[in-house]
Amino acid sequence: MRGPEFTYARAVDVDNAVALVQRPGCAFMAGGTDLLQLWKAGRTSPVEVVDISHLNLDQIKQSSAGWRIGTTARLSDVAAHADIARWFPLVSESILATASGQIRNMATIGGNLLQRTRCPYFRSIGVSSDPESPGAISCNKHLPGSGCAAVHGDNRAAAVFGASNRCVATHPSDLAVSLVALEAQVEVHSSDATRRLPLRELHRLPGETPEHDTILSPGDLITGVLLPDDARRFAARSTYLKVRDRASFEFAVISVSAALDITDGVIVGARLAAGGVAPMPWRLDAVEAALVGRRPVEETFRGAAARSVDGAEPLSHNAFKIELLRRSVLRALTTIGGQQ
Ligand code: SF4
Repeated sequence: MRGPEFTYARAVDVDNAVALVQRPGCAFMAGGTDLLQLWKAGRTSPVEVVDISHLNLDQIKQSSAGWRIGTTARLSDVAAHADIARWFPLVSESILATASGQIRNMATIGGNLLQRTRCPYFRSIGVSSDPESPGAISCNKHLPGSGCAAVHGDNRAAAVFGASNRCVATHPSDLAVSLVALEAQVEVHSSDATRRLPLRELHRLPGETPEHDTILSPGDLITGVLLPDDARRFAARSTYLKVRDRASFEFAVISVSAALDITDGVIVGARLAAGGVAPMPWRLDAVEAALVGRRPVEETFRGAAARSVDGAEPLSHNAFKIELLRRSVLRALTTIGGQQ
């Protein structure tokens, strides 16, 4: 299976890349691991790909405010970086739970954050969402207005938070869950400015327009991810728990990034986010609020874990995720609550 032909352009610098991709139908490419799959499945058909893999955007550096990871840094290089593993173990752990070693050698940080949903209807290779086509599958994310096959179909993997009747798909990145928990920022370069925004604000809920996964405008280029120095206080007590249908090379059914700062026997800081439950990495604010100021004992953890499912709205085949999320949060908290 292959998609339509496209042309190739090699950007000479970031400004050139942003300028080149202004034309409708152009797409950035670095590792290409998701782009190629989407192209083969007929879910994207760029007229031109703009290669940014040679722009020296793969540096991992310490800055005055923390650590900066360049957008084209390979997942495997980030996970193996000694300082990232030491100070931000959630980042390394969640990367190592991602895909296979071969894919981690190719895939980039920016591409990982922008990968598209694994909804089986959206990923159906070669199947059109055009109702006029034989065997068409309704998918508003692929073809706006065509409907959503998952709402009343196979929705076992679907969201229990943040979905709409237009789309119930989940966001697939492991890394994004940990980065949201650590309050990372993304650096975005556009034709007229460079800005930073909390990663938590990068992805969007589907609402009426599920074809848009993020708040980025056409031509915006993520150039880096910033890990704040403050997140280092969670290094000693953190874990990434990923529940999946098989032990390797599988996307999360549920995942939890959890980190605690315990001082003098009291939880003084808590960061939690979940994956596999929403169209975006899902920060568990209510759980954090239920932890801070309390002692790290089982009663505290049980009470906090119960808050993780506040507001959950299951579909016909994914109600199991509610209890699974609660238990996963409890297990993660119990695990790190006992770390020295
Ligand atoms: Fe498409 Fe979203 Fe529905 Fe899946 S859940 S079929 S991605 S509209």
